[in-house]
Amino acid sequence: MLTQNKKLSLTGRVILGMVLGIFTGFIIRSLFSETSWVHEYLVNGLFDVGGAIFIASLKMLVVPLVFISLVCGTSSLSDISTLGRLGGKTILFYLTTTAVAITLALTMGSLFQPGAGADLSAATSFSASEAPSLGEVIVGMFPTNPINSMAQGNTLQIIVFAILFGIAISAAGSAGERIAAIFTDLNEVIMKLVALLMHIAPFGVFFLMAKLFTNIGLDAIFNLLGYFLVLSATLLIHGLVVYSLMLKVFSGLSPKIFLKKMEDAIMFAFSTASSNATIPVTMETATKRLGVSNQIASFTIPLGATINMDGTAIMQGVATAFIAQAFNIDLTMSDYMAVIVTATLASIGTAGVPGVGLIMLAMVLNQVGLPVEGIAIIMGVDRLLDMIRTAVNITGDSCVTCIVAKSENAMDIACFNDPQAGAKVEEVHLNPHPKASHID
Ligand code: ASP
Repeated sequence: MLTQNKKLSLTGRVILGMVLGIFTGFIIRSLFSETSWVHEYLVNGLFDVGGAIFIASLKMLVVPLVFISLVCGTSSLSDISTLGRLGGKTILFYLTTTAVAITLALTMGSLFQPGAGADLSAATSFSASEAPSLGEVIVGMFPTNPINSMAQGNTLQIIVFAILFGIAISAAGSAGERIAAIFTDLNEVIMKLVALLMHIAPFGVFFLMAKLFTNIGLDAIFNLLGYFLVLSATLLIHGLVVYSLMLKVFSGLSPKIFLKKMEDAIMFAFSTASSNATIPVTMETATKRLGVSNQIASFTIPLGATINMDGTAIMQGVATAFIAQAFNIDLTMSDYMAVIVTATLASIGTAGVPGVGLIMLAMVLNQVGLPVEGIAIIMGVDRLLDMIRTAVNITGDSCVTCIVAKSENAMDIACFNDPQAGAKVEEVHLNPHPKASHID
């Protein structure tokens, strides 16, 4: 049996891991920067290995979790037309929030002019790929080989296959019922795996933070302070104000409770900088803490991790304004529109993994004819910003999930309002015969 610290909640322990990790990183940076054994055995040894194992274990759960829970969710839908309505609503909200995010970012970027007089000496060459067309994005969602989609972790293709598989299960009569029962059991098992992982999370977060803050180039932040501050402020406004307003207006739910319950998922997103790797925790938060039914969350959360990246879109907006100002190029209204459309499309076609925002930015800059070299200037501060924008990305996914669930009457409001719901880390009993005493 895994014992747990009775005094601190999971959130408390993850915060502790994070703070201690950041602190350890700074200590090593300032006191042991020349001590080779510290770097060799601690930073590039223990911290590196521990952090990598933690990320790998999170990622390991994503494909089976997305597939199994979505098959469960779709196969239990009583009416297939629900699926179309659910999908339409979710995608509409996702696209709208992304467009609002990037518009807010462009406005903040033009208002505060972070790039005026910026130092361009870091500019080197940077190659950009083309933004995918809408047609390519849509065709790319359909798998030719579902096993291959799973092997590659292509979330959109897995979602499409899982939905079709789930629909077929619900149409297959008693054979379908037997398979659905297996998937329900599998879902229980995979959620136990998530719970198991939560127990090692504080250590994982500690290792990731300690390594990162030993190596992170904070001097770069001072050189790009304007960009860093405008971008962080816009991310905070969107994450705290825009989502709170949306939640209140469209669902009547309390933004305060919502944000409080998002803490764990936010910290996971912050320390991994990957919405994809955070999917298990976002799903657990949505279903166990926010009271969203699995039918909704199993669809909206993985979909959101791939197509809804508001934080990343904000970075595109502020960075575009910054680079245009730094190179003294005026953007026209139609350029602004092109930025909004390209950034929204690019966010649909790319997965939520660390650093992908920079690749998308290259597409956006290309589209409006701005020098892609500008990316080299902001690259130095991107890691920390990536962590913040990933936290915004998954908060947006969860906010839309709550709105859609509430509108579909698929939400346990008592659970949402109960501060303790799902707060305790589930105990994992490693006992092969838990019900032995009931069998005679
Ligand atoms: N790291 C972000 C995510 O996974 C994407 C990005 O902005 O680079 O959501």
